[in-house]
Amino acid sequence: MLSVGLVGVRGHLVEVEADVASGLPLVALSGLPDTALHEARDRVRAAIVNSGQAWPNRRITINLLPASLPKSGSGFDIAVACAVLAGAGELPLAALHGVVVVGELGLDGRVQPVRGVLPMVLAAIRAGIRRVVVPQANAAEAALVPGVTVRGTDTLHRLIGFVRGSERLLDPPAGPPLEPVAGPDLADVVGQGVGRRAIEVAAAGNHHLAMMGPPGAGKTMLAHRLPSILPDLDDEAALEVTALYSIAGTLPAGAPLLRRPPLQAPHHSASVPALVGGGSGLARPGALSLAHRGVLFLDEAPEFSPRALESLRQPLEQGAVSLRRTQGETTFPARVQLVLAANPCPCAKPAGDQVCECTALARRRYLGRLSGPLLDRIDIQVGLDPLTTAVLLDEHLVQEPSAVVADRVAKARAAAVARWAEPGWRSNAEVPGPVLRSAGWRLPRSVLLPVRQLLDRGELSARGYDRVLRLAWTIADLAGRDRPDRGDVCEATELRRGELR
Ligand SMILES: [Zn+2]
Repeated sequence: MLSVGLVGVRGHLVEVEADVASGLPLVALSGLPDTALHEARDRVRAAIVNSGQAWPNRRITINLLPASLPKSGSGFDIAVACAVLAGAGELPLAALHGVVVVGELGLDGRVQPVRGVLPMVLAAIRAGIRRVVVPQANAAEAALVPGVTVRGTDTLHRLIGFVRGSERLLDPPAGPPLEPVAGPDLADVVGQGVGRRAIEVAAAGNHHLAMMGPPGAGKTMLAHRLPSILPDLDDEAALEVTALYSIAGTLPAGAPLLRRPPLQAPHHSASVPALVGGGSGLARPGALSLAHRGVLFLDEAPEFSPRALESLRQPLEQGAVSLRRTQGETTFPARVQLVLAANPCPCAKPAGDQVCECTALARRRYLGRLSGPLLDRIDIQVGLDPLTTAVLLDEHLVQEPSAVVADRVAKARAAAVARWAEPGWRSNAEVPGPVLRSAGWRLPRSVLLPVRQLLDRGELSARGYDRVLRLAWTIADLAGRDRPDRGDVCEATELRRGELR
C-alpha cells in the first residue's frame, strides 16, 4: 500500500507492507515510533473487526518504508489495515495499485480526517502518482491540487467494498466555491497620514515596520489593513500557505486555495510553541509560519516575554523555523513581514491623559525590551500621534481605499524586482547596505545631505543610515522615479523617527 508521511511541510511517499505468517498471534510493527505503534495497532485491529472483517490471528509483521523517514500522525491507519487484510489473503489490492491512501481509523471503522492532506497530495503528484483516496472530510482540500483524481471514503467498510468491486468511493463535495471574505479596508481609517504612508512604504519595499504611539493612534487598525494592500499570492505561494493551514488543521472546510497574504496577530501571552510551532506527534506550525508570505503582527510588542521575542530572531533571519523533535528536526517556512506596535509607556494611558505617571526611565525601559536583535531588523520605525477631533471632523479628508494603494504598491514592487533582477532580490528590504553605498548605486552628496547631517550629529546609527537608504529607494519606486531625490531621502528619515527620538 502507498501512503504519505509528513516532515514539516513536505510529504514523503511511504510504502506499507504486511506479512502474515503462521505462528503465535503477534503483531510486530516496524518503521514507526513506539507510542504511535501501539496506538495504530489497536485502532486498526478494532476498525477491521468492526467493519465485519476477521482479524488474522497469526503472526503479523507490518513494515513502513523507508525506515529512515521519521513518521508521525495517524494517517497511515487505512493503508496498514488494507495491507494486513491483503497479507491474510482476504483482500486483492489490484484496485489500489498506484493509489496513495491516507486516513485515520476510528475504533468503529469510520475514517477520520487528518491534518496536512494538501501537502500529502502534493507529494503524491511529485512522485508521479495521480490517484489518491482520502477521508471524505478532506476530499475537497485534496482536490485543490490540480492534476490529481481524488476519491473520498467515510468508512473502512466502503473502501474494502470498493476494492472487492461492490461499493463506490465518494466524489469530493462540489459545494459552491466560497467567496473570499474581503478583509478590512484602508477606507475605514480616518486621517493617520503618517501611519498610512508607513504601511504603504512597508508594503512596497517589503520592509518590517514598528509603530510607536499611544492607544487610539490607530496602530492596530493600520496593521490589520497591511495585507489588503499586498499583492495576491502566486500559485506556488498559495499552495505553500494553504499547505501550512492544512497541517495546522485550520483550513476552513470547502475553502479554496488561500490567495491572499495571511495575517497572524498572536496575543502577547502566547507561548513559544504557539508562536514558532511545535506540539506532540505531527508538529503544528505556529503563528510565525501561519503568517508565511503575509504579516506577523505583534500588538503591544513589549508585553511579549523576552523568550518569545528571542525565539523569533533566527527564523526572521532565515525565513524558516527549525523545530527540534524527538525524531529529528522539522522545518516550516516563515517568510513574514513583521509589524510591531508599542505604547510609549507601560501604563498605556491615552495621550493627553494626565494620569500617566510613568517616569522617563520607566518609558525607556519599556521600549528597551524591544531593542536589540529584533528592532535592529526593522526598517521603518514611526511614531504615531492620536487622532485629533479636528481631523475626525474634517470632511475633506481623502480616505483612499486599499485597492488604490495596492495598485501603487504593485507598481513599486515591479520596479524593485526589475532593478535587482541581476542579484535576484525580490524587494528593497533584501538589499544589503554595502550595495546601496557602492559606486553603482551611491546617491549624490546633495541628495544625501539630510541623512548625512543626522549621522554626523550622532542622531542616526550607521545601520539606521543603511535603512534610510533602503526606504528612500522604495519611496522613489512609489513615486515612479528612477533614483531617489533629496525629498525621498528626507521622507525616509521621517520613517526612522522612532529611532531619532
Ligand atoms: Zn504611562
